[in-house]
Amino acid sequence: MSKRPFIAANWKMNKTVRETTDFIRALSQTARTVMDRDIIVAPPFTALYAACDAARGTSIRVAAQNLHWQDNGAYTGEISAAMLTDVGCDYVIIGHSERRRLFAESDIDINRKLAKALAVGLKPIFCIGETLEEREAGQTLTVIGRQIKEGLNKLSRGDIESLVVAYEPVWAIGTGKTASLAQAGDAHRAIRREIEVLYDADAAAALVILYGGSVNPENIGALMAEPDIDGVLVGGASLDLASFIKIIHFDKT
Ligand code: PEP
Repeated sequence: MSKRPFIAANWKMNKTVRETTDFIRALSQTARTVMDRDIIVAPPFTALYAACDAARGTSIRVAAQNLHWQDNGAYTGEISAAMLTDVGCDYVIIGHSERRRLFAESDIDINRKLAKALAVGLKPIFCIGETLEEREAGQTLTVIGRQIKEGLNKLSRGDIESLVVAYEPVWAIGTGKTASLAQAGDAHRAIRREIEVLYDADAAAALVILYGGSVNPENIGALMAEPDIDGVLVGGASLDLASFIKIIHFDKT
């Protein structure tokens, strides 16, 4: 399935307000020349307002990296979904493996976050993926099946049309090890099958599924040539402007 390529940068805990503004202003020159691709940047919370300001009037869209499912109240250190729309975010990353692993986010937490994001009109980038241990135990498809079923619990078919799924094998994130095209393709096809079972074939076919895990300017072309890979979520290689611009300008190889 050939869709509009979706290229998202996850900056994690990197970049100040000034660095974010400079990056987005420079990136907007490139964005102008590639109107056939969706370009999304996810800065840290402190730089979101500045990022949305710098991206205004360009085709670049801004994502947050997390949210809390409560609307407001005594949740010290947390940020609500409405706060993200208030600063101008269109997207939010939910369920990143670093949140699952380092901050003990469960599938139930992730389901609450997805529901809240969708309720306020934020488009979730819903991350799933297996650990190395799970892959070696032959549990990859069981794990991603569970993450999808529990993460999407009670979400409607309309909700599914507003979200993007990112398959990110945990062992490939920040390690320099990319999943092989066969491994990524198998996982993406399994995700589409699961969506078909939970919803229907049209929802499965229309779903944008990203690959994430050590994507760089050298491997992007081959990944994007895989029929079931609709885009990428890029961590480390998105921090450097020249490298991210090369990724955006990929040619299928
Ligand atoms: C990520 O953090 O989502 C990611 C894929 O990181 P990296 O590209 O550095 O592996």
